[in-house]
Amino acid sequence: MAKINVLPKHLAELIAAGEVVERPASVVKELLENSIDAGADTVTVEIKNGGISYIRITDNGCGISRDDIRNAFVSHATSKISTSDDLESIFTLGFRGEALASVSAVAKVEVMTRADDEDIGTRYVVEAGEEILLDDAGCPKGTTIIVRDLFWKTPARMKFLKKDVTEANAVAGVVDRIALSHPEISFRFIREGKQVLVTSGKGDLLTCIREIFGKDFSSDLIPAEYNGSGVEVKGFVSKPSASRPNRNMQFFFLNNRLIKTGTGSAAIGEGYKNSVMVGKFPSCVLNIKVNPSQVDVNVHPAKTEVRFSDEKAIFNAVFYACKNALANGDTPKQVNRPVVDFFKSPEKPAEQLKISTPPKPATDFWQHIPKKESADSVAPVIKKTEQHQVKVVPVVNTSEQSQPKVAPAETKPSDISSRFVVASSPSTEPVSEGKSEDILLNPPPVAPTVEPSVSFIPESEEKPCFEEEEFNLVGEAFRTYIICEYKGKMLIIDKHAAHERIIYEKLKRENGERTPQLLLIPVTVTLSKEEYSAILDNIDLLDESGFDVEDFGNGCVIVRECPMEISADDVQDVICEIAGRFVEKKQDVTFEKMDWIFHSVACRSAIKAGNFTSRLEMERFAKQLLSMPDIRYCPHGRPVFIEMTKRELEKNFGRV
Ligand code: ADP
Ligand code: MG
Repeated sequence: MAKINVLPKHLAELIAAGEVVERPASVVKELLENSIDAGADTVTVEIKNGGISYIRITDNGCGISRDDIRNAFVSHATSKISTSDDLESIFTLGFRGEALASVSAVAKVEVMTRADDEDIGTRYVVEAGEEILLDDAGCPKGTTIIVRDLFWKTPARMKFLKKDVTEANAVAGVVDRIALSHPEISFRFIREGKQVLVTSGKGDLLTCIREIFGKDFSSDLIPAEYNGSGVEVKGFVSKPSASRPNRNMQFFFLNNRLIKTGTGSAAIGEGYKNSVMVGKFPSCVLNIKVNPSQVDVNVHPAKTEVRFSDEKAIFNAVFYACKNALANGDTPKQVNRPVVDFFKSPEKPAEQLKISTPPKPATDFWQHIPKKESADSVAPVIKKTEQHQVKVVPVVNTSEQSQPKVAPAETKPSDISSRFVVASSPSTEPVSEGKSEDILLNPPPVAPTVEPSVSFIPESEEKPCFEEEEFNLVGEAFRTYIICEYKGKMLIIDKHAAHERIIYEKLKRENGERTPQLLLIPVTVTLSKEEYSAILDNIDLLDESGFDVEDFGNGCVIVRECPMEISADDVQDVICEIAGRFVEKKQDVTFEKMDWIFHSVACRSAIKAGNFTSRLEMERFAKQLLSMPDIRYCPHGRPVFIEMTKRELEKNFGRV
């Protein structure tokens, strides 16, 4: 074993700094929390190069007195707690005394500050943990901290930083959240020389939300309040109709501290059960207030993870706040609370206050199926099929060996399967002369042109095999499953999954050669700053997939074109969903990202379970599906149909 060394102070600080200072956004978060703890009511944040080369935070708080300035930069030096009892109930955002020490260990820090009772201010400079200067300074009451050249002495850390714009967006995300947590403080954010956010600091949360996320987002919110069992919840939740495909716009605060809480998200999900579709999530800005003694914020140096002594009370409070909001709409009024143990049976109260959404109008099942061919294919193809009923059969005939013959099919294929037949490569299995003669007795009046390039179906190893007379449509169950008989089996088709897969395959095939639709009214989409950043980083990819997306400034993008398959009403959702995935799976390669885009588009444009489908549509769809042997699983890997033989059915009834 090597000798045990006590690490020098600076090295120990560098290690500790790793937990607190990860990127410019974490520095900004810590410094803003200090300004809030200092009682400031006006705070300005300025960054350059995404905060990597320059961060300046100016506040009008209590300032740091000359006597304290050196201590402020010592690890575990804090004015916020002094005894272990204080740790039991923390009223401030900071308490670990680590931030200034950590930041100054990995950057050049300059402070100008003047405390309430001082006539002259102080200028203090620390670089890589070493004091450079301590001097008088003429400055207003409050504190200005400038952080320059983050990680300049630790290139290994520097490597993990992203492009300036990505870091700047992460900073913007932090500023948004901190500003939301304190509507009584006016925040100003200057990014690369441009002022991008100002909150008025009036103390009104809805105004603050509007200032940060814009009118579109704030006008879809309803007040949510609840007070009981020592927990108060106050804030706003979105109307069910404004739900999003992910939780990126759910903001929870605990005693005005930004936190991550699985309990809060679960409770809001439960509160909206029956009000939003599966896979949709409401947005929220909710502040949970509890006695600080009931919560442990000392879980992680970043202080965003917390442990509640009574998780159940938090869950219930958020749940009822949502229920109140949904029941009362725009006017906050507390619903009488049924006393139920949620953790035991969360469904019950949700049902008592059940609020249902009207079913979505039925969409045209066929609107997304082979667009490329739609102008002259869906209807005309049926005609062509009826006239010719063709299939390509290579004939073994010395004189015509190289020429495949076109002969009438023995069975009458559906419109879609006929396309399959025409598109598929000629069978390599030769037919006998006699057989071919048979087939050639009734040659079609005009041989149809074989154009695999316009085929809807990819070339397949398997032979086309749809057999019309073996098919019988039974009907539909739960407006979700199409039931039919085919080749002696009963098939139960999941119409959404099957349709989704068909569209997905089509999108993949058309990759890069799509004709997008120009939206009559461009759609603006408000995103969290992380999503916004992710979308801007992948704008080329979106372009290749048929979306024309442009930066619309400050967390908003504008969509002018989208793939044909999507209806304009769904554009916002698809963009949010894609953005959410970009954020979640940053590391994925282009190919995988492209795949999710196709998934999202396919899922959104496919017929939904629960939507009305006419018998004709069902029949055509089932036939189309059965003539596509490659389509047996949806893009998520679920089967598109299940089958049962007559015998299996009979066994279940004890007949055999
Ligand atoms: P903590 O916030 O956990 O106490 P920090 O390292 O962030 O630790 O700050 C150390 C101390 O410096 C704080 O306890 C506070 O007394 C002082 N301080 C830091 N920033 C400010 C500020 N903007 N205004 C007034 N005091 C500050
Ligand atoms: Mg602090």
